[in-house]
Amino acid sequence: MSTIDKPTQKPRHLTQSDSKPAPHPAPRSLADAKPRSTEPKSAGSKFAKPASLPIDADLLSGLKTGIAPRLLAWQLAHGRHDLPWQVPEPYAVWVSEIMLQQTQVKTVLGYYERFMQRFATAQDLAKVSFDEVAPYWAGLGYYARARNLHKAAKLVAEQGFPGTVAGWQELPGIGRSTAGAIHALGQGGYGPIMDGNVKRVLSRWLAFDQDPKKAAAQKVLWQIAEQLTPKDNSGRYAQALMDLGSIICTRSKPRCTLCPLQADCQAYIEDKTDQFPIKSAPTKFKQRYSIALKITAGDQLLWLKAVSPGIWGELWCLPLIDLPLGVPLEPQKSVPIASLDQNELGLDLASDSSEAFESHPLVQQLISLSSDVHKPEQTLNHRLTHIAWQIQPMSFSLAPGQKDAAMRLLRTFFIYEEKGALKFSELMWMSAEQAIDSGLPKPMVSLIEST
Ligand code: SF4
Repeated sequence: MSTIDKPTQKPRHLTQSDSKPAPHPAPRSLADAKPRSTEPKSAGSKFAKPASLPIDADLLSGLKTGIAPRLLAWQLAHGRHDLPWQVPEPYAVWVSEIMLQQTQVKTVLGYYERFMQRFATAQDLAKVSFDEVAPYWAGLGYYARARNLHKAAKLVAEQGFPGTVAGWQELPGIGRSTAGAIHALGQGGYGPIMDGNVKRVLSRWLAFDQDPKKAAAQKVLWQIAEQLTPKDNSGRYAQALMDLGSIICTRSKPRCTLCPLQADCQAYIEDKTDQFPIKSAPTKFKQRYSIALKITAGDQLLWLKAVSPGIWGELWCLPLIDLPLGVPLEPQKSVPIASLDQNELGLDLASDSSEAFESHPLVQQLISLSSDVHKPEQTLNHRLTHIAWQIQPMSFSLAPGQKDAAMRLLRTFFIYEEKGALKFSELMWMSAEQAIDSGLPKPMVSLIEST
């Protein structure tokens, strides 16, 4: 049992019905609160209207009166009020919400400041090419966010800001929760949100017995969130939930004694805060092995621009080739990320596989062009959402007179025959400094900094 003082309220399990009234009644059975299999669509829109509520109305009425006043009061006294994007301006909120997806506040702060200094309005962003935007996003990762933000800014520059949650959702890269946050925080409208913080807080408060990452569970949580969100002060309520999840109801060791929801938080009452949110079986990751070709001539390297869509679309990258077929590996073998380390990737690329890499036809041709080939250097381990990626750099030094030959070779291999792991649209010789200034994905910076 926790050493924290507990309220005297008797623990209640949310999956069992209970005829006794509670101060803030919880769902009698969230497990039974099945969402509809389909949601009605609004006419002429691809976005769904909220499904009808499958949860007891009395229960939700109780929840509603219990949560908003406490959260609003707590946010005023203890929440965050000095973040640079806490202004009633939709563009500022929009940029911050996109940057904050998958990224922590402390990381975003510097990027946000630089981005807003350069692109102060949606019009400023809309009138430049993506090449000018990329350096301001380089290192933040998830580059599709930046491309979508840029595309959406062009639409906003022509049409103005949307005035509804559904309208925001029509823009590229803006989902339901982001749309709700922008409308509520930036425009003062009604906008329920459902980011990771909200899922965690609600899952614990309700002792919600489904994995909130699952689509069916999310439908139920959305219905609850819509009911809980006050029509007035929707923006501050959203901020309160985000702040609570970030400051108090943290992933590990939540600070329950300071929480305004402690009195009726079911996970706390049952001393099960570490068991919520429910987590399904660990995510499986695919493995992928690639060679990054560091082809140098003097102080320049040969770069390719990845096509969009793609993980690094529109960004300059070192040429990458996947490990050729026939190597005794299982490139698609899945392993739980929890147990993933270099040894368990099944291959020590630096020492075991140089022969395999050197037998690759492109590598063979580069070796024949090069005055010097460095044997494999330190391997980079890079994790994407569902991929554990090991990238092995190899360096090839060319004489200046070989630059055109290398361009022809790479063009044939990557662009015309499209055999590369990534698809590319352009080739260019650039120094490492020029490439970094143009905006490189973080792994590429690590690769060129490795020796
Ligand atoms: S009481 Fe604890 S577990 Fe419950 S919502 Fe508050 S911080 Fe989270």
